[in-house]
Amino acid sequence: MRRCFWVGWVVVIGLLASSFTRAEEKESRKVWSPDVERIMSVGHEESQVMDHLDVLCNRIGPRLTGSDNLTNACEWVRDRFASFGINNAHLESWGEFPVGFNRGPWFGRVVEPEPRPLEFMTMAWSAGTKGTVRGKAVLAPKDQKELDEAKAKGTLAGSWLLLGRPSGASGPRPDPAFRRALRKELGGLKLAGIVAPSPSELLVTSGLHRITWDKLPTLPSVILVRKQFDELAAWLKDGKTVTLKFDIRNYFKKGPVVLYNVIADIPGTEWPHEYVIVGGHIDSWDGATGATDNGTGVATTLEAARILMKAGVKPKRTIRFMLWSGEEQGLLGSAAYVKAHKELTPKISAVLVQDGGTNYLCGIDATEAIFSDFEQVFDPIKALDAKKYPFAVRKVPGLTGDGSDHASFLAANVPGFIWLQSGVARYQRTHHTQFDTFDAAIPNHQKHSAMVVALGAYGIANLDHLLSRDNLRAPGGLAGNGRTLGVQLDETTVTELEDDSVAHTGGMKIDDEILKIDGTKVADGMEITRALRAGGAKKVVTVLREGKEIELNLSWEPPAAEKSKP
Ligand SMILES: [Zn+2]
Repeated sequence: MRRCFWVGWVVVIGLLASSFTRAEEKESRKVWSPDVERIMSVGHEESQVMDHLDVLCNRIGPRLTGSDNLTNACEWVRDRFASFGINNAHLESWGEFPVGFNRGPWFGRVVEPEPRPLEFMTMAWSAGTKGTVRGKAVLAPKDQKELDEAKAKGTLAGSWLLLGRPSGASGPRPDPAFRRALRKELGGLKLAGIVAPSPSELLVTSGLHRITWDKLPTLPSVILVRKQFDELAAWLKDGKTVTLKFDIRNYFKKGPVVLYNVIADIPGTEWPHEYVIVGGHIDSWDGATGATDNGTGVATTLEAARILMKAGVKPKRTIRFMLWSGEEQGLLGSAAYVKAHKELTPKISAVLVQDGGTNYLCGIDATEAIFSDFEQVFDPIKALDAKKYPFAVRKVPGLTGDGSDHASFLAANVPGFIWLQSGVARYQRTHHTQFDTFDAAIPNHQKHSAMVVALGAYGIANLDHLLSRDNLRAPGGLAGNGRTLGVQLDETTVTELEDDSVAHTGGMKIDDEILKIDGTKVADGMEITRALRAGGAKKVVTVLREGKEIELNLSWEPPAAEKSKP
């Protein structure tokens, strides 16, 4: 009884407090146009943003470019747009991959000396096992003598070869020349597969997609969390017998596999042939389910479309919702779209991309010439739950194109933006890793961000002019998150090289050891990526080849014809 009494009072006090804040809010905030008010109320009251994300991650799953899942996701998203009443939603093909790749389940266990499950991944477009493969774990030979002995005794055939240096290992590192020689022999050793350590507790998926059907990878290559790799190595050092069992269902599919962007328009009433594009990439890496990279951006794009349709607003310009694929392989879908639709680029007022995970959208960059338009457009957003979710327009000397598909548009002189994001989520821990699953998304952030996208798109579509192109791009050139070499590395040594990749075109070869980028020494894959993505689109890469240092000139610059005025 007493408890009920107290609960009753708490409820009454709660109601008083909330009606008070609501009244206060109404008094202090402007009343917006009926359209803006409707967008806000639809977004607030009936959000479906987490449902979109749930289907994408948990029913469809990871969405690697070139996988059946990605095609399923594109079709599902198209149908979802149609279910909101958008009758022009469609897929537009932008290219093909020679070989498709689908991932089934994967598991691995220690059988002896102490049974336990293993936490590991394999790269996209790499070989799996054919069923369960059980074998002894062996430490990789350290020099030619050890290799010759192992071959003579036949200890390597059928084994899982531990290739890599355990944490805290003492003694000299294996000679790089021997490592290269060993790599060359791996295919002929009849191994069950290779087991290498991850750099940290994070299992980061990537992979090279330019493989051919007649030369498919055959040797399973497991990346095991470092802690477990160290444990296996320690057991072997102690002379224990270690038996492992892996079942890794990686399936290649004979191509060509056709690849798509998804497009859906709310047509403009006054200038239907002018556009505001909102979107993000729909593809993901496939070590988890691509929740924060970039299911979250797809979900807010869908939800923004639903909100605008449900609110029944009629924008003056066309709002085009776009979900690109091939982003993770170097912004392929968006770049191909820009290339195929050059005539559209002068008519695109803005491209707004979300690709930074689940933190809430907290701001946007603007050049001097765009700033006052954005102050006007984002005025209602600044008032939207301002205490919890502040929003600011940030004045910058020029846009840099850092991060995602907007860079493809910016390269064609279209104002391309990536939302700034803020909050408690740790994007670096989830994106591309085993932790990128549905539970990483923050529902309240997602709901708020979808409203920001809807209001931003609507506001820009209704300005009486296109956004200015004056001094659009940063003087130092575009930043290059889309820059990839097209190589697979073992530490800093190139072990695989894609045809037609930037590395291949620039003269890089398998077994090159990358020493410096623009004169600065690099020690690992992370440092290489960071150095490539900073600054201008041309790099001098110093490699060690057969004992000699060679300088290679690599370039990510678009062909001269596609360059717009500086
Ligand atoms: Zn992304």
